[in-house]
Amino acid sequence: MDSIKQTITNLRNELRAHNYNYYVLDTPTISDYDFDTKLKTLQELEEKHPEFFDANSPTQRVGGEITKNFETVKHNFRMYSLDNSYSKDDLLDWEKRIKKMVDGPVEYTCELKYDGASISLTYENGNLKRAVTRGDGFQGDNVTANVKTIKSVPLKLKGDYPEVFEIRGEIVLPFEGFNKMNEVRIANGEEPYRNPRNTASGSLKLQDSSEVAKRPLECLLYNLTGTNLGVTTQFESLEKARSWGFKVPEVAVLAKSVDDVLEFVNYWDTKRHELPYETDGIVIKVNNLQQQEELGYTAKAPRWAMAYKFKAEQVSTLLNEITYQVGRTGAITPVANLEPVELAGTTVKRASIHNADQIAKLDIRERDVVFVEKGGEIIPKIIGVDVSQRPLDSEPTKYISECPECNTVLVRTEGDAKHYCPNYNGCNPQIIGRIQHYISRKAMDIEGLGGETVALLVNEGLISNYSDLYELTKSQVIPLERMAEKSAVNLVNGIKASTAIPFERVLYAIGIRYVGETVAKKLAKHYKSIDNLIKASQEDLEQVDEIGVKIAESVTLFFSSEENLVIIDRLKEYGVQLSITDEELEGQTDILKGQSIVVSGVFEHVSRTELKKLIENNGGKVSSSISSKTSLVVAGDKMGPSKKEKAEALGISLINESDFLLKLKL
Ligand code: AMP
Ligand code: ZN
Repeated sequence: MDSIKQTITNLRNELRAHNYNYYVLDTPTISDYDFDTKLKTLQELEEKHPEFFDANSPTQRVGGEITKNFETVKHNFRMYSLDNSYSKDDLLDWEKRIKKMVDGPVEYTCELKYDGASISLTYENGNLKRAVTRGDGFQGDNVTANVKTIKSVPLKLKGDYPEVFEIRGEIVLPFEGFNKMNEVRIANGEEPYRNPRNTASGSLKLQDSSEVAKRPLECLLYNLTGTNLGVTTQFESLEKARSWGFKVPEVAVLAKSVDDVLEFVNYWDTKRHELPYETDGIVIKVNNLQQQEELGYTAKAPRWAMAYKFKAEQVSTLLNEITYQVGRTGAITPVANLEPVELAGTTVKRASIHNADQIAKLDIRERDVVFVEKGGEIIPKIIGVDVSQRPLDSEPTKYISECPECNTVLVRTEGDAKHYCPNYNGCNPQIIGRIQHYISRKAMDIEGLGGETVALLVNEGLISNYSDLYELTKSQVIPLERMAEKSAVNLVNGIKASTAIPFERVLYAIGIRYVGETVAKKLAKHYKSIDNLIKASQEDLEQVDEIGVKIAESVTLFFSSEENLVIIDRLKEYGVQLSITDEELEGQTDILKGQSIVVSGVFEHVSRTELKKLIENNGGKVSSSISSKTSLVVAGDKMGPSKKEKAEALGISLINESDFLLKLKL
């Protein structure tokens, strides 16, 4: 037994070191394959020996915990904002104020201001205890389960760390990962994310931590908080934190004067474009912690720190033409076609304008000279018009009233910012977009067929909806541009293979508006077959957990179309999965219907993941925290005493593992 414990400990230490080399130092010393093999071995051992469970084991980084409502936590030390400065004079004024308040020479640390989501991490005895968002500065959300999946956040520390402390930093999404995420979204026919910062902070609030684990987030640390930390300067605290295993960027320097500070500013103003992540300025801090304490805080920010914002890059250029794009759902997006201009290191030819309101608000017109800014967004945006340069015969932009692709009169429903082309079955970009969505990775995942080929097939008149795909033959495809015999075979085989894709994904693939992956899963589980779903009335749909009026309306609308029903019938004929298979049905009951269940502790016969799955398969809902809405707590070994107390206080019954399995007749 002891030797198993030892093996587990060794594997954990080894994997932890590899994580550190890879994600903090960026210098891996093991292949991905070997890492995965070791991780898998550890996972298996941990599953077999739940008595050695450790919430901070490297295996916990894959996520899996679902948080419905994030618990609010009061910060032990307030998370302040920063004052901003924009010029040398601002900085000199600040220095003057400081020198009046403290004695002796003042040194400064200069750091970059990372643009992401702030986070406060609490460590006790070298273990990550809690991760809390900034919130309003006084209290934030407990997002520990999600933050644990970020590989550069150490779950266990090394070296001479204090017993208890907090460390603050910024969770960022580096450009490379951000762009990759967007490529996938675009390929799936989804709107790309606007910028890394919002995507990073949005990621922290995802309910499913295994989704967070898939996002290439990083955590950069810049501030130690606590008492008796054994450091005397900010610079030293950065070095210490680095030695305990945190990712602390090496760019910080010490400055003795405002001139030194400006040198740092000037250097990074251009150099920052070479960094892998976004920064929006620099932060200057009084280095000596004793002096920091003397300076203290204003109502909103420390007196000992100052942000210096980089100027957002802006240029002006001529707006040649406003064109309009039609998306898969028929939504119209106006696009500004610009006279090409250099901005932040790239040539910009197009800028996004969101909708008709935006055009009206800024009074944007063709042939105007417009100001274009590149913030975090990939596509730059128009922020204003230079009216002084407007041609005399200029006229306000008239938003189109007909679809640029099919000339159908556009509609705009109350409360919707966008115009739509309602010609669902006859508008080319909608037809192509829908099929592209159908074949995309998260939908039918058809190998050998890409978005461009879909467009080609539609334009050649070979297909006009996704059910047509199943009748394509090799000889039809070969004459297409860039199609060799082999790729034609792959294409046809790929389409055939998609008949094995489970019902819930088919339901997502057919592209009912507002039916995303999660909703599709819910509907598939509830109705079990497309025939049941087609029969469902609007009221019936609204009864389903988490299905609202908007979705219910959209589903009934979809199936009220004769054309859609014909397409569905054809899919059925070709063997596409339009109901849950017996295999999937097996073990599904309604025993726990309507119950919200919390799982706590370590279990003997089933893993936590299995237990959660069991609950869901039997109609229950898994919830991560105990509240008055909790119906039942399945209590394993080592259930936390505070959870137990809370359950008892709320009068919620606890059930042990074997009684629970009995209840499910297992
Ligand atoms: P602001 O939100 O503009 O008031 O700026 C304050 C925020 O800047 C803090 O809450 C931090 O999240 C963030 N920040 C980014 N980098 C740093 C850094 N090196 N030092 C301190 N704060 C930083
Ligand atoms: Zn149209």
